[in-house]
Amino acid sequence: MPLHRDAILLTPGPLTTSLRTKLAMLRDWGSWDSDFVAVTASVRKSLLEIVHGQESHVVVPLQGSGTFSVEAAVASVVPRDGHVLVLDNGAYCKRAANLSTLMGRRTTVIAFDDASPISVTALQTALQEDSSISHVVLIHCETGAGVLNPLQEVADICAQQGKGLIVDAMSSLGALPIDARSIRFDALIAASGKCLEGVPGMGFVYLRKEILASCRGNSQSLAMDLYDQYTYMEKTGQWRFTPPTHVVVALHEALTQFAQEGGQSARLLRYQTNFQTLVRGMAALGFQPFLPEAFQAPIIVTFHAPADPAYTFKKFYDAAKRHGFILYPGKLTQVETFRVGCIGAIGPVEMEQAVHAVALAMQDLGIVSGAPALD
Ligand SMILES: *Cc1c(COP(=O)(O)O)cnc(C)c1O
Repeated sequence: MPLHRDAILLTPGPLTTSLRTKLAMLRDWGSWDSDFVAVTASVRKSLLEIVHGQESHVVVPLQGSGTFSVEAAVASVVPRDGHVLVLDNGAYCKRAANLSTLMGRRTTVIAFDDASPISVTALQTALQEDSSISHVVLIHCETGAGVLNPLQEVADICAQQGKGLIVDAMSSLGALPIDARSIRFDALIAASGKCLEGVPGMGFVYLRKEILASCRGNSQSLAMDLYDQYTYMEKTGQWRFTPPTHVVVALHEALTQFAQEGGQSARLLRYQTNFQTLVRGMAALGFQPFLPEAFQAPIIVTFHAPADPAYTFKKFYDAAKRHGFILYPGKLTQVETFRVGCIGAIGPVEMEQAVHAVALAMQDLGIVSGAPALD
């Protein structure tokens, strides 16, 4: 273990953050104080600008991890007698379906293969066959396998059919383009500790202004009520309950760096370079990505586990950690895999080093090749 340096996180959050972002957390802030109120207002303004939603949307921050905000969005946006359709091609889709059911909303799931994007034809058929469906839930980048789903097409269909759309853009916002002027959604959710490169601890939900009034009274939870959180914040500038102050100031600092880097397009370019550096380097060691490149978002890569009998994820993980890099377990049930994130305050230099750490981990364990079993 290096004593003076943290391992680099190749995970989909928490991520490796910049020194500036970490340093922003060294102060204490009063939650009611005007200085902190100004930070919250600035964060909200910057977040709205990222999706060009100043005219059409508001943004409501919420304490907790990203899932808290997904749950809050469903509970606040979908009326209690609403009917949610979840397009499921992975673990985060299943989580969304689960929380929607637990919130007492009638929930229908269409299951798709987790190695490809969801099908818009199947969505169209489902909406035609069941007119009681009021809302569609889509995961933009399914972090489970790393698949990119067709957000624009799904949004267009929902707009044509007059259905509400709730988008979990947790692992894509800030990196992939999302423009609220051309993509119609009722709610879109992301969090501090993903592609904006803040630390974990708060989520935020963009809500379309036109549906705001209809959110009132939908939530059966006090703490997760985005309508209440919104109206309180508009009135006072403050968070309704104790805010994660250090997380908010860290996100504020991370957003400044986001703008300085050149915004979403620059971030995407860096992640794409990370992705290419990783996949090329891993291929030289024999490793194969699980997804065809056409379906793959440059956020997180699922690799097949090597067929070599010396491989177990646990041993491989421990060895990579000794060489300074934290890998991520796979989330697929059918195939043995592991995942490597391309996001965070890291660039191609760190990705080269990550590949080198994997090579050293293989040597340590006596793994000759990263090649998977032939099927
Ligand atoms: C990270 C993530 C979430 C939120 O997970 P938490 O563990 O609650 O932070 C939700 N959806 C997707 C697609 C994610 O990548």
